[in-house]
Amino acid sequence: MTDFLATAYRTRAAGSLRAADAGSPASVAGWVHRRRDLGGIVFLDLRDREGIVQVSFDPSWTPAEALAEARRLGPEDVVRVDGMVFPRIHGQLNETLETGEIEIRATGLEVLTRAEPLPIQVDYAADEELPGEDLRLRYRYLDLRRPGLLRNFVIRHQAAQAARAFLSAQGFLEVETPLLTKPTPEGARDFLVPSRVHPGEFYALPQSPQIYKQLLMVSGFDRYFQIAKCLRDEDLRADRQPEFTQIDAEMAFVDEDDVFRTAEGLMAAIFRDVAGVELETPFPQITYAESMARYGTDKPDLRYDLEIVDVTEVLQQADFRIFQGVRGTAQRIRGLRIPGGARLSRRELDELQDVARRGGAAGALWVKRGDDGALAGQFAKGLDEGLANAFYEATGVAAGDLFVAVVGRFRGGEGEGAEVDGALDELRRHLARKLDLVDTSKHAWLWVTEFPVFDWDADHERLIYAHNPFSMPGDGAVEAILEATKDGTPTGEAARKLYGMGLRSRAYDAVYNGAEMASGSVRIHVPAWQQAVFTALGIGPEEAQAKFGFLLEAYRFGAPPHAGFAFGFDRLVMMLTGTNNLRDVVAFPKTTSARALFEEAPTAIPDAQLRDVHVQVRAPGA
Ligand code: ASP
Repeated sequence: MTDFLATAYRTRAAGSLRAADAGSPASVAGWVHRRRDLGGIVFLDLRDREGIVQVSFDPSWTPAEALAEARRLGPEDVVRVDGMVFPRIHGQLNETLETGEIEIRATGLEVLTRAEPLPIQVDYAADEELPGEDLRLRYRYLDLRRPGLLRNFVIRHQAAQAARAFLSAQGFLEVETPLLTKPTPEGARDFLVPSRVHPGEFYALPQSPQIYKQLLMVSGFDRYFQIAKCLRDEDLRADRQPEFTQIDAEMAFVDEDDVFRTAEGLMAAIFRDVAGVELETPFPQITYAESMARYGTDKPDLRYDLEIVDVTEVLQQADFRIFQGVRGTAQRIRGLRIPGGARLSRRELDELQDVARRGGAAGALWVKRGDDGALAGQFAKGLDEGLANAFYEATGVAAGDLFVAVVGRFRGGEGEGAEVDGALDELRRHLARKLDLVDTSKHAWLWVTEFPVFDWDADHERLIYAHNPFSMPGDGAVEAILEATKDGTPTGEAARKLYGMGLRSRAYDAVYNGAEMASGSVRIHVPAWQQAVFTALGIGPEEAQAKFGFLLEAYRFGAPPHAGFAFGFDRLVMMLTGTNNLRDVVAFPKTTSARALFEEAPTAIPDAQLRDVHVQVRAPGA
């Protein structure tokens, strides 16, 4: 709780008054949160950023003029009150207010400004529904007055300060990098800014400070951080904003462990300072391949167990057509044992089909064991006693359990058809929630390491980068890429072969309770290796020179080994505040259709101004 220094308008912050202040005079300033007129007496709830305090106007201590003025006050009028702090009369204590043990007995009242009738309220009862979000975004400055929303920004501030304090103590320098820049490859579209002085040329707004932070390492800054705005022109989803904030960092002369210890320390400091939570460090680590095999995702929620079991060997022997179909193919049968899942209703079991389809599979197949141990469900009849026992053995399925299986090709497996790992991920998350298996007291952080170097773009039959093109390929992978690119970009079979090698990079993600919170990597710092990766991605020396020439050039003049990470700051603040709405932690967010509703951006630009920047607008699609 902050108490503001006295200003010309007040001696105290209204919300900071406590029982110990009883007996002192106080002048406060703020908004009329609520007014109750009890005939002779008027009660005012006066609100400032620190909270709400009760002010009482009573003929025994308030001059008649001030009392009359108090009667005329409306919601959100801005006032200044002079008075004395008094303990509240026994029986009138308000435990829901931090100032609830005292009140200010007003001896003076000054109206600073009046508020017109409000388009949205500020004061809501605990169970009252808020107006629609579009209306609240249209009047964002009013909505931000809501104490519940304001609190998120106090937490956001505390998190930013904790990050700064921790990183500064670790020798990081906070450096700002440009907003007007060249396209950076984070895999999204760029927001472009036309240049007035260079007709036909454009700046790109940064998708991240990636290249700059690497250049700072070449410059010998050793440790850099920035709480940086990143701008990506992506199709929007509810949990995305076109501009967002990262805690961005880079370190020289480090390997993964150095980075992990630093990032863990950073998170521990933030959780300690902001939430009073002691995180357990070091965070566990698993490789990407292991994460996919065990959880079907690269961001597993480890607040519950539920691990994937491969039951291909057992179930392909079942007298069940779909299972027999996998014999001799690259398809697998994998599933999850759900403890206590046998109690799900028929309707809840039917729902699993849609859940599995959301994750890319044709459907889900389930069996359950009743309390008597008997097996029932979709493929129960296909298992004779011997096979059923082998199935129990392989999966641990016991009385009361459900087993849900998915058939198809899984990540890393060769062959045709879409990958169905996502189906098990969806089922795992859905069933954990449904059966209350999530231990919400846990803070389940982990590192997922060794991401693939390349992904495969099936539409264009080519390699694309999985993390970013600056990530250092892992053991042996550099040699393989140098070899595969010595005659230029591999195409067709050669490209497939390179992808098929499943090369791993030294890229990593930090995952918290099933959400990706950070990503980063050890970077390539040798120009020839960087060019080889570019070449593999179809970016030949000339294009590389045009796009990233300054980075490749910098590497020629003595680049230290370096690595870094970026945490999604908005998402972190969401976790710390407990909101599931990204817009609740961004002061002036865009809607899901990327509009700013009160200042009305984006907006058409007058012709003259467009001419200045040499831009002509085409009709959409023209
Ligand atoms: N620039 C990367 C990102 O935004 C993070 C990093 O590799 O440091 O995901």
